[in-house]
Amino acid sequence: MSAPPQLVAGPAEQCELVLRDVRAIDQRAGVDARLDIRIASGRIVELADAGSIELDDGEELIDGAGRLTALPAFFDPHVHLRTPGQEHKEDLDSGTRAAAAGGFCGVIAMPNTDPVLDSAPLLRSVRDAAARHARVPVGFLPAITRGLAGEQLSEMAELRAEGALGFSDDGRPVTSAGMLLKALQYQRLCGGVLALHEEDPTLSRGGSMNEGVVSAALGIAGIPTVAESTMVARDAALAGYEDARVHFQHLSCRASVAAVAAAKAHGWRVSAEVSPHHLLLTEEAVRGLDTRMKMHPPLCTEDDRGALVQGLRDGTIDCVATDHAPHARDEKEVPFEQAPMGTTGLETSFAALYTELVLPGVITLELLVERMTAGAALFGLAVPTLAVGELANVALLDLDSVWVAGEHGWESRSENCCFAGRRMQGRVLATIAAGALAHRDRSLALADAR
Ligand SMILES: [Zn+2]
Ligand SMILES: [Zn+2]
Repeated sequence: MSAPPQLVAGPAEQCELVLRDVRAIDQRAGVDARLDIRIASGRIVELADAGSIELDDGEELIDGAGRLTALPAFFDPHVHLRTPGQEHKEDLDSGTRAAAAGGFCGVIAMPNTDPVLDSAPLLRSVRDAAARHARVPVGFLPAITRGLAGEQLSEMAELRAEGALGFSDDGRPVTSAGMLLKALQYQRLCGGVLALHEEDPTLSRGGSMNEGVVSAALGIAGIPTVAESTMVARDAALAGYEDARVHFQHLSCRASVAAVAAAKAHGWRVSAEVSPHHLLLTEEAVRGLDTRMKMHPPLCTEDDRGALVQGLRDGTIDCVATDHAPHARDEKEVPFEQAPMGTTGLETSFAALYTELVLPGVITLELLVERMTAGAALFGLAVPTLAVGELANVALLDLDSVWVAGEHGWESRSENCCFAGRRMQGRVLATIAAGALAHRDRSLALADAR
C-alpha cells in the first residue's frame, strides 16, 4: 500500500530559532519544565535547561523570560475554508491565517464548497492552491457522495490516491443507511476515515435551534436531539457491522455521547469530536436571537453541555474541532430563521476553553492540549509533539494575558464568532507550523543574533 496522504502547505522559510526560557508543557512527550528550545531547519534539535542555550550565528531569539508557555501547536480536523466558490466568506490564505493566529499547525477542510469537492481533478487543484497559499498545512476531506446529494458515491479510491485524508458529506448527513454501508465497504478497501455529520432530516425538518423550552418560548421551529443521536447510533452499528472506521463530527447532546460510549464498548472503530461552542454555550444563548448563535447542530441544554464536557474528560470524545464556519456579515444579518448555520472558531478556541474549563478547574491544561492535538492521529497524521527530532509545531502563549475576542478584528475574512466580545485569558503570541513561523503577534519581539 502507498504512503498515507499528508497535508500540504505553501512555501515558507524554515525556522532557525531559539525559544528561551519558556514553560514547555507536553504530557505526551513527558515534558513540563522551564526550558530553552532550539529549532534548526524547522526541526526541534535541542531541549535544554532555561537560559543554557547560546545563540548561534543566523539564529533568531524569542525570549519567554519565564512568562511564556510553549505547547504543541493544535490540530483542527474540522474547518470550512469556503474555497472554491465562496471566497467572500474565507479562502486558503485568510482561513489558514486564522488557524495560525489560534495556535493551530494543521487543519482539515470540509467539501461543501461550490462546486462540491467530489472529484480527483478538483482535489488536485485545491491541493495545488494550498501548496501556494496555505499558511499552515491543510488536508481535505472530499465528499462521500457526489454533490453531497446522497445518491451516488464519489470515486473514493481515486480521491484517496489524489491525497484525500478521508471523506465527509459535512453540512449534510448520509441519510440512506444503504448508501453509507456501501461507503463503509469502500472505506475498508481504500482507507481514510469517514467523518459524519449526523442528522436525520425527517426529525430535524428545517428547524433553526434546539427543540425545547427556549424554542417554545421564542416560537422557533426546533431540532430534537434524537435527530443526531439516532443517526450516531445507526452509523456506529453500521461501522461495527462492516468493521469500518468512522468519525462523528460535532457531537451536541448527551444521547450522542452515550451512543459513542456504547459503540466504543463494543470495540467498534469510532471516534468523535466536539466543538468549543457546544462545550461552553447552551440554547440559552439563542434567546437574544443573535444569529452568531445559530449553528448546526444547535446549542442544546446545560445537561447536554455537561455530558459533552464529561465525554471530553473521560475520552469518549477524542478531540476538539472548531467547525470554523465563516459567513459574510450580510448573510448573517437577517432574521434568525433565515440565517445560515455556523460560527467561526479558529481564533478563539484555545482561549475560550482555557478560560471557561481550565481556569475554573473543570479540566487540566494538559488534557485540553491533548484533546486539541489528538485530531491529527485520528486522520493518520503525526501528532504535534515537543520532542527532539520532531518537526517544530509549537504554539507560544501568554497564559496570563487577558483580551476581548474580536477587539482588534479577525484574521478570518468573516466575523460571525459566537465568542465575540467575551473576555478571555490566554493569548497565542506565536505559532510555528511544520517548521515555519506562521503567526507572530505584534507585541512579541524577535531578536536577531546577526
Ligand atoms: Zn456539520
Ligand atoms: Zn462543519
